[in-house]
Amino acid sequence: MILNSLCDIRENPEPLTLEQLPVPEPGPGEVLLKVLACGVCHTELDEIEGRTAPPVLPVIPGHEVVGRIVKAGADVESGRIGERAGVGWFYSSCGHCRYCSDKNENLCSEFKATGRDADGGYAEYITVPASSAFPVPDYLGDTQAAPLLCAGAIGYRSLRLTGIKNGDSLGLTGFGGSAHLVLKMVKFRYPDTEVFVFARNPSEREFATELGAVWTGDTAEESPVRLNSIVDTTPVWKPVVEAMRNLAPGGRLVINAIRKESADLDYLLRISYPEHLWMEKEIKSVANVSRRDITEFLQLAGEMRIQPEIEEYPLENANQALTELRRGNVRGAKVLHIK
Ligand SMILES: [Zn+2]
Ligand SMILES: [Zn+2]
Repeated sequence: MILNSLCDIRENPEPLTLEQLPVPEPGPGEVLLKVLACGVCHTELDEIEGRTAPPVLPVIPGHEVVGRIVKAGADVESGRIGERAGVGWFYSSCGHCRYCSDKNENLCSEFKATGRDADGGYAEYITVPASSAFPVPDYLGDTQAAPLLCAGAIGYRSLRLTGIKNGDSLGLTGFGGSAHLVLKMVKFRYPDTEVFVFARNPSEREFATELGAVWTGDTAEESPVRLNSIVDTTPVWKPVVEAMRNLAPGGRLVINAIRKESADLDYLLRISYPEHLWMEKEIKSVANVSRRDITEFLQLAGEMRIQPEIEEYPLENANQALTELRRGNVRGAKVLHIK
């Protein structure tokens, strides 16, 4: 499924076209995967609508890829052939700058993303650097494993960046694919932490309660207690402003969104220094994911036996999955299964 040109998905509900392409050849250091499943992520909407546009078109989107390694390029151990592997947003980086040396290659100026800067997993085959293909825990089915590669890994990074300790209170504003996995991780790793969920959609709030949130409310509601950290996964500004108000002194808001839409940008004018920022409140963004996040998260998922909630679509229905995601119709994560 190929993206040939950028568009507003609300005006053009079929941004991707199904095309037949030759199977790519793995270059030196690369592997060829036969794709089994690929998750559908909000970032694809940002790519299609130009907020984080692919540098070259056409491109095949998709960065929550689960596949089987079927061919290894030069300099890759042939022992990996047959391995089931996952590929996330991290495709490659320079490998030698200060960020790459510190294992923060997500911040490298030459960071390349799967499905934006290189062809991704909305396809039957994909080539990737062998070091960006990670073993997937055996207990997971192919479609279940897919959302863990992005929503899970970036959720893991955002939780890491909150710096919370067991017993601290945590808010989640927005409750989609990534946030529901964060809630599960918190329950496992920080059992005394209470989680407060802000979501516009009543069915998302209900889902959060089922998964163990102690309180849920609309985006603009005030939480019953001030929160030590909040993770924002929404595409807009209102939740950022409202979250700052709900933070406790010294609290941190972590924005897990690759881009924000500008429709409600004027909401930022409501920021009042004493109410939203005073008392050492912080805002930090989450940029991409590193190899460390993907590796550690997959390990944690294996310990926790995370079973993400998913909705499946055949590859050729990718446009339907994307338009439903655009409308905010989400319960768990959307995944394409590929035969
Ligand atoms: Zn993603
Ligand atoms: Zn680098």
